[in-house]
Amino acid sequence: MMLNCIFCKIAKKEIPAKIVYEDKDLVAFDDIEPKAPVHVLIIPKKHISSVKDLKAEDKELVGEIFLAAPKIAKEKGIAETGYRITLNYGKDAGQTVEHIHFHLLGGHKLPFA
Ligand code: 5GP
Ligand code: ZN
Repeated sequence: MMLNCIFCKIAKKEIPAKIVYEDKDLVAFDDIEPKAPVHVLIIPKKHISSVKDLKAEDKELVGEIFLAAPKIAKEKGIAETGYRITLNYGKDAGQTVEHIHFHLLGGHKLPFA
């Protein structure tokens, strides 16, 4: 838990979010400013600032995210139409929240990015 981390606070239900999936290690919730009809953020409950801060011990956690994503996609009705999973790091990719998160995007034809 990082004080003042907005995604840690969402994971701990200290601030509201539309949670669409949760298990012991992960939480997924609707993005507050959706860039596609379906835009879910999948995060580990554990605070990890970014992809460059992942440790060998986090290997399984990252795997769990990719196992949860298709379940969330199915729940959101985009399992058949398709989706994109993205992770931003740093200035040029536009990472704005320093708690690692994967975007799950779908629900229309996605522009290349
Ligand atoms: P980034 O640009 O860091 O990859 O993505 C951060 C995402 O978090 C953005 O798409 C932004 O809309 C979303 N976001 C930022 N603050 C909040 C919040 O308080 N609640 C929710 N649900 N999403 C947020
Ligand atoms: Zn955090």
